[in-house]
Amino acid sequence: MAPSNYYDETRYCPQCDAYVRFLKSLEASYCVECGARVRLFSQQDRKRFLRSLNAARRPLKKPEKRVS
Ligand SMILES: [Zn+2]
Repeated sequence: MAPSNYYDETRYCPQCDAYVRFLKSLEASYCVECGARVRLFSQQDRKRFLRSLNAARRPLKKPEKRVS
């Protein structure tokens, strides 16, 4: 199945201060508007994302200490 209706992905460009379309390269992605490196999230969204991750994460069981 070809992704013809591929989701119109955008990333955050700190130069444009907006979510923009981007060009992918091997190492990074670049804004199509100004050529700056883009990020997956803005700082604000990143914090929100991390917070939601933390909220979703259940406290892990502490590994049992083995006394040998
Ligand atoms: Zn830009």
